[in-house]
Amino acid sequence: MKPAPFRYERPSSLEEALRALEEAGDEGRVLAGGQSLVPMLNMRLAAPSVLVDVNAISGLDEIATEGEGEAEGEGEGDRRYLVVGALARQRTLERSALAASCCPVLPECLSVVGHVPTRNRGTVGGSIAHADPAGELPVALLALGGEVEVAGPDGVRRIGADDLFVGFLTTSLGAGEMLVRCRFPARRGAVGSGFAEVAPRHGDFAFAIACASVALDESGRIAGARLALGAVADRPLLVPAAGDVLGGSRGAEPALRAAAAAAQAAVDPADSLHAPAGYRRHLVGVLAGRALRQAVAKASEQLTKGGSR
Ligand SMILES: Cc1cc2nc3c(=O)[nH]c(=O)nc-3n(C[C@H](O)[C@H](O)[C@H](O)COP(=O)(O)OP(=O)(O)OC[C@H]3O[C@@H](n4cnc5c(N)ncnc54)[C@H](O)[C@@H]3O)c2cc1C
Repeated sequence: MKPAPFRYERPSSLEEALRALEEAGDEGRVLAGGQSLVPMLNMRLAAPSVLVDVNAISGLDEIATEGEGEAEGEGEGDRRYLVVGALARQRTLERSALAASCCPVLPECLSVVGHVPTRNRGTVGGSIAHADPAGELPVALLALGGEVEVAGPDGVRRIGADDLFVGFLTTSLGAGEMLVRCRFPARRGAVGSGFAEVAPRHGDFAFAIACASVALDESGRIAGARLALGAVADRPLLVPAAGDVLGGSRGAEPALRAAAAAAQAAVDPADSLHAPAGYRRHLVGVLAGRALRQAVAKASEQLTKGGSR
């Protein structure tokens, strides 16, 4: 099929892009890597009358760190972020040495996002703005407790991951707003993360995804844990109950099993052709346990190396 007719705009600055989006109102749509939007246009699942292609805007593809304590362990009490421009390609982030050292779970989960050609084109901001419940990057942003920076008619604001995903393919971005940067908390001290998913084939959308982040205090007890799930609800889902179960524990097997059970209890997945609801719920328990176990093991390694939160 062919897309419905649209007007194509290719601004060369953020200001021009925001103006074009504001003028287009509800009829405007950002075009980034096109790996989700173009198929949706071709299948007429989306029919915006104005496409604002943001690929010619420079400076929105940088990957850098920001915040106190440039070296691991420094800047106690302050946060340090891996800041990723919305137009950074998924493949660039997957291969970034900075991402591997600050947020090792990102390259790990990106390696199963679609295929190399889709990751060469698809952007980090596009994946997060698209808010696919089965998207790996939205789940990772939520598990790490990151945030996004959005620009719009009223200036720039930040939205925490907990408030970003509000429904199926829907974020809390307002009319005329564009996502410009993603901020992932950088690993520091005794912090570890874990990622696990089951997909029909490598690169396919997963049946279920789990991503976890765990921070230990100096005594080895869990000071904070976040577990996020994908592909089992209408949006990427944070499971606060899993963090509550683990808080204050040493991340031993009974606590991990209780947290995985809390994750299972938090979902009511739908049936699909290749994965009935009961199978998906079973996967949530298994994958949540795996992701949390990995996160605790990696945080413990960091503690042994000498860092605590
Ligand atoms: C064969 C195939 C397999 C795939 N498999 C996976 C997979 O396993 N996991 C996965 O997560 N994804 C998968 N994808 C989707 C892919 O990751 C997309 O790249 C991503 O979902 C969208 O990023 P994009 O840059 O291509 O955005 P686009 O397709 O250009 O845009 C997607 C949506 O986001 C909006 N948008 C884009 N950028 C911004 C911005 N800066 N501000 C505001 N709104 C914006 C657009 O308006 C549009 O609504 C797959 C895609 C293909 C074609």
